[in-house]
Amino acid sequence: MSAVPVPFDDTIVAIATASGEAGLAVLRVSGPQALLVSQACFKGRSRLAEATSHTLHHGWAVWPEAATAAAAARLDEVVAAVFRAPRSYTREDVVEFSCHGGSVPARRVLAALLAAGARLARPGEFTLRAFLAGRIDLSQAEAVADLIHAETDAAGDLALAQLAGSLSVRIAALEEHLTECVAEVEARVDFAEDVGGVEVPPHVVAAIEAVRADLAGLLEGSEYARALREGVRVTLAGRPNAGKSSLFNALLGELRAIVTEVPGTTRDRVSERLELDGVRVQLSDTAGMRETNDRVERIGVQRAQAAMDEAGLVLWVVDGSTPLAREDHEFHQSHAGRRALWVLNKRDLGSIALRELQEWSPPPPWVEVSAQTGAGIERLRHAVIEQLGGVAHGQRGQVSNPRHAEALGRAGRLLSQASVAATSNAPGEIVALELREALAALGEVTGTHVGEELLDRIFSRFCIGK
Ligand code: GDP
Repeated sequence: MSAVPVPFDDTIVAIATASGEAGLAVLRVSGPQALLVSQACFKGRSRLAEATSHTLHHGWAVWPEAATAAAAARLDEVVAAVFRAPRSYTREDVVEFSCHGGSVPARRVLAALLAAGARLARPGEFTLRAFLAGRIDLSQAEAVADLIHAETDAAGDLALAQLAGSLSVRIAALEEHLTECVAEVEARVDFAEDVGGVEVPPHVVAAIEAVRADLAGLLEGSEYARALREGVRVTLAGRPNAGKSSLFNALLGELRAIVTEVPGTTRDRVSERLELDGVRVQLSDTAGMRETNDRVERIGVQRAQAAMDEAGLVLWVVDGSTPLAREDHEFHQSHAGRRALWVLNKRDLGSIALRELQEWSPPPPWVEVSAQTGAGIERLRHAVIEQLGGVAHGQRGQVSNPRHAEALGRAGRLLSQASVAATSNAPGEIVALELREALAALGEVTGTHVGEELLDRIFSRFCIGK
């Protein structure tokens, strides 16, 4: 990160609110010249340049050259909030202008601030500055983006906890323990004669194991946390007339897909959003899977295949009152190793398919329902959540970001290797090397060990003004 100058010598500005008709729009200015730039565009009783921190000032936004002239052209009536370094979002001097919403006022005030010497901020640049100034770590900065993108309360809660430092605190503790382990191992290597050999003592091995176990605990429920953060695609598939459209409607609780007795009616994908235990689910109904000569239906079948490939979970629907068909066996084989839940529908008519399914070893996860009577639908919702790695309303996991999960998983594997090496009396250098790599992997989450390229990738996900 040495290429990035901290503190920055330029002052950035952006509209921080979404565009469109609204009550208010907020502009944010940050940097060493924030107070001067803002003062140049502000006409009110107080002078922003001399204002104390955390104070509000009513006045008018004006074009910079006109700020001192009596007949200054007014751009908008504003309230300026002054935050002096380091007690601000970025730890720099910050001024936030609240002006009227809509597209005109904020755009005009922005133009004035740019004319006064500020530069337009890049996406996420305010949060990047907060990270580089050390006010928040990288996992907290990423939580800011997660919070903005959250579409359900549960996803918002998860992001908020991470923003408050739930992950940072735990990782910082692990980093501290590991640093002590590395110091002990390296001391033994460096002063082998003084401390008697390079074997790693049992208490250090135990400490490494403890960190590894903590990491494993931290990763529990991370798959479900990811589903909460990102949402998941769930696709209904199966033979024609199995009851996919009926189930689609039953899950949505409303009539949406066309239900008919003529096989092959659903020829295209119908998609709808729903929320299951805080997870945003994009539920798709697809054309029935069967061989067909009908050109339109064939395209539908191809699309259904594509929908299954994209899905995080396939609900394979079977008419449970009839024996399993060739397509069911084919699906079982072709979809091996991927997430699928078998939905044995038409339970009101019988359980013939279930008897067959239970003879498989092992039988796939299944649930019996009747889309028509509604029996088993609640059970189906729970089963979907279980398949996504969650327990309804239970522990949700903390690590929602796949980048974090990958780095923490890698750190865990490195620690396993380190402890195996330590107990098999491998040279202390090897153990130290693995511990250092594990520390680096933890640093990828907190941001102590990241390159500019990764930062660019992470912060480009942000909107301008954040
Ligand atoms: P799709 O082709 O798989 O989408 O199947 P549909 O949802 O269009 O249903 C096909 C037929 O089965 C319709 O006549 C539905 O009313 C009927 N059906 C769907 N679910 C059930 C059920 O649970 N019990 C009974 N008895 N009939 C059902």
